[in-house]
Amino acid sequence: MNITINGKICACEEGEFLLEVARRNGIQIPTLCHHPALAGQGCCRVCLVEVDEGRGPKIVVSCVYPIQRECVVETESERVRRERGMVLALLRKRAPDSPRIAALCRIYQAPELPRLTAAETGKCILCGLCVRACAELSVGAISTVNRGVLKEIATPYHEASPVCVGCGACASVCPTQAIPVAEMEDTRTIWGKTFQLIHCAHCGNVIGTREELEMAARRSGQEPETLCERCRKAATAQILAGVYGD
Ligand code: SF4
Repeated sequence: MNITINGKICACEEGEFLLEVARRNGIQIPTLCHHPALAGQGCCRVCLVEVDEGRGPKIVVSCVYPIQRECVVETESERVRRERGMVLALLRKRAPDSPRIAALCRIYQAPELPRLTAAETGKCILCGLCVRACAELSVGAISTVNRGVLKEIATPYHEASPVCVGCGACASVCPTQAIPVAEMEDTRTIWGKTFQLIHCAHCGNVIGTREELEMAARRSGQEPETLCERCRKAATAQILAGVYGD
């Protein structure tokens, strides 16, 4: 099936999400809560676009909008830019310290909304990507706590989590850099807990925290890694060259 995005004909399968088709065709739609390694959740709504399936244009959230039929899509129409600007203006109230949201607000000329009270500080938009990353890729050490304006992401009782392995996956998927990570030469501190960093036995680069490597070893049933990925590949290539000759 073909759909038209910003005047460009794009091939797609029925059921594919609009955002994926646009990106595959080099059409960039801004997102915050979308991460390619995790399923779309349509939480931040920044990726909204205009879709016309023959009954007039409507606004949809592209990361969770499955394509069912041929349609015409506009990702930067006047209406899209206005509505995206409003979404961003609301997100800025929630996360006034986020440079990424501030930059998007400038691009989409987000209105100031003086009647709404902004959070005094903060970068978190409560998209939950960090919670999902930890649950799906690691150990489920963090979750959403409290309700309403007090809602936040935290470890249980705001204490150092006994199950967190300090892998940093939560911080790396966060779209607004809301999770502080302090990394020194030999330690990483995250969620109030300090972890010892292990360095590659060959090149000295950091390969992870001790707890993270031990967890991976338990899961794979092998000894904890002592080499980084690059050195491991180089060592394997050397062994193969020895076996098969150059
Ligand atoms: S650093 Fe801790 S909380 Fe963050 S993803 Fe890794 S295990 Fe989960």
